[in-house]
Amino acid sequence: SKKIVIKIGSNVLSDDQGHVNKETLHNIVEQVAELIGQGKHLIIVSSGAGICGVAAINKWSRRGDINYKQALCAIGQVELMNAYKEFFGDYDLHVGQMLLTRDDFGDHIRTLNIRNTLFTLVDEGVVPIINENDSVSVEEIKIGDNDTLGALTATLWNADLLIVLSDIDGVFDKNPKDHKDAELIDEVYDIDGLLDEIDSRGKSSFGTGGIVTKIQAARRVNEYGIPMVLVNGKKKDVIKNAMAGTGKGTVFFGK
Ligand code: ADP
Repeated sequence: SKKIVIKIGSNVLSDDQGHVNKETLHNIVEQVAELIGQGKHLIIVSSGAGICGVAAINKWSRRGDINYKQALCAIGQVELMNAYKEFFGDYDLHVGQMLLTRDDFGDHIRTLNIRNTLFTLVDEGVVPIINENDSVSVEEIKIGDNDTLGALTATLWNADLLIVLSDIDGVFDKNPKDHKDAELIDEVYDIDGLLDEIDSRGKSSFGTGGIVTKIQAARRVNEYGIPMVLVNGKKKDVIKNAMAGTGKGTVFFGK
């Protein structure tokens, strides 16, 4: 694969205490820089603005309301990009930020503009870093999760591969955080079959986590013939291993 979209989940970039895990971020940047050095084209879709906002002003949301959360994202987005800029700078790579909402994908002209900007950034050797524009996205105009945003980006850009980095090794038959005996599903050809299979073994664990949007993202890219790999972004060399088809993970091949 030459054109790769990497989606980085907020769980990858934070620990349980809500601190930003810069070591993991640095590790991911190092792998991305190496791939670019090999002539690959990369786009990053990154979550984590909220958590970076919390870390920056050093307090959890006192107010739980939407405006407070959006304010935290406004603060954190700068922190997040600052970290990317610093880490990619070590490899003489520039980053470009694009903050998108659902409307941007529903309008032909806007979609075209996004597409052309992405192609231009990548052509110029710049790493595009995309996130949902959380401080303007109220429920009604939200994409809602970056798994979907990652999938939309992959199809828009005609990517060859979507890599989703989360804090689990892939899709399991049940939530691995609640069940020590959960089994990894390493290959998926039939998404409906997978959903049935997981559902039948406990809907509650399935429904609470963010695994559903990841499976839906896989469905979306698979429809375009783009495979998706779900792997644990906290592990060293995870992207390299995913590209090489080694290491743990779930590969969605589509039909
Ligand atoms: P991210 O921030 O990386 O997008 P999410 O928290 O949205 O991560 O989704 C990943 C979480 O989904 C895992 O940490 C896990 O607790 C939960 N989960 C629920 N069911 C499953 C399952 N069957 N397989 C894997 N993970 C699951």
